[in-house]
Amino acid sequence: MPSILSRTTPTINTAHRSSLAPLVVPERLLLGPGPSNADPVVVAAMGHQPIGHLDPAYLTMMDEVQTLLRYAWQTSNELTYPVPGTGSAAMEATLANVVEPGDRVLVGVMGYFGHRLVDMAKRYGGDVRAIHQSWGQVFSLEALRAALIEHRPAVLALVHAETSTGARQPLEGVGALCREFDCLLIVDTVTSLGGVPIFLDEWQVDLAYSCSQKGLSCSPGVSPFTLGARAEEKLARRKTPVANWYLDANLLRKYWGSDRVYHHTAPVNLTYGLREALRLLAEEGLEARWQRHQSTAELLWAGLADLGLSCHVEEEFRLPTLTTVRVPAGVDAKAIARMLLTEHNIEIGGGLGDLAGQVWRVGLMGANSHPDRVETLLTALGQVLHSNH
Ligand SMILES: *Cc1c(COP(=O)(O)O)cnc(C)c1O
Repeated sequence: MPSILSRTTPTINTAHRSSLAPLVVPERLLLGPGPSNADPVVVAAMGHQPIGHLDPAYLTMMDEVQTLLRYAWQTSNELTYPVPGTGSAAMEATLANVVEPGDRVLVGVMGYFGHRLVDMAKRYGGDVRAIHQSWGQVFSLEALRAALIEHRPAVLALVHAETSTGARQPLEGVGALCREFDCLLIVDTVTSLGGVPIFLDEWQVDLAYSCSQKGLSCSPGVSPFTLGARAEEKLARRKTPVANWYLDANLLRKYWGSDRVYHHTAPVNLTYGLREALRLLAEEGLEARWQRHQSTAELLWAGLADLGLSCHVEEEFRLPTLTTVRVPAGVDAKAIARMLLTEHNIEIGGGLGDLAGQVWRVGLMGANSHPDRVETLLTALGQVLHSNH
């Protein structure tokens, strides 16, 4: 009788020997569009043993996470939950809950993530219209008003921080405009939460979503979304069930609210991390944190100018969390990024979509928004640019 081991078909042979060695993860400085480095405090928190998702200690942690998230977003929305999955899952959660088949959805597309919103809203049956702005520019209130008059949508979706371009969409007045047109406002705050000023309630934003791995300096895999009173009303009026079972806010509420009914097994270790990431944010204070991101980004911009490099977005609309740097003529953008990684352990991003090959994307988010990191990057960038000529 052959042993059970000898009958296993995908065998581990000598060619796979490295897969038998304990895991080695290279140390990288993550200065791209995300993920950003997790704060060491967050990494330590995630190293604890899992506990049950209905354990009283876990339920307390869930309440803390909700309170801290409301602070981070400056909202009092009851329905404020992190869902398992990355930012795209939270994006999907907002759309799935308020878009019913046939609903007109207007998307402001000024970069890659606007296109993702269009694609997703269509999959939930939305009658999707898009307005476009060139990559690196933002929409004016007048342009948004004209689009609302033309399209009369039930939902308007905008990206606050367009990570593909480095532009910050101003949101003052947009929520009031949407109310005038009886339209819900969804805002993507994936690259702004924890780094760029956000006032969800003051701005009358109805739904928003974000992620854990950018401005919050946690690992990827758990992503917050929030729904205000007007969005809850639309959810209650639905004629059809939410097409996505996993992200149905009515079901999630039974677990996150007072019922505490099992819905899914929560990613408990990621919740530990998110809880600590949000605690660090609260400890620092939102205003101090926003100021830190702004002043650190300004150091980067000044240093880039010293290297003869220019930024793609004009300063008024430039994100402190993500800077697009124009690639000088004759420079191989990919080769420079590869050298930064292999010779200096620094990751930066390349251009996407309309900006492919034209820019590098440098993220200074959360714990990485620090003068030391700027110094490290500028020194390394200066060296690789010099050696590449
Ligand atoms: C990163 C990002 C997303 C998607 O998040 P994932 O975590 O990659 O799924 C969505 N919107 C914006 C603006 C982003 O920067």
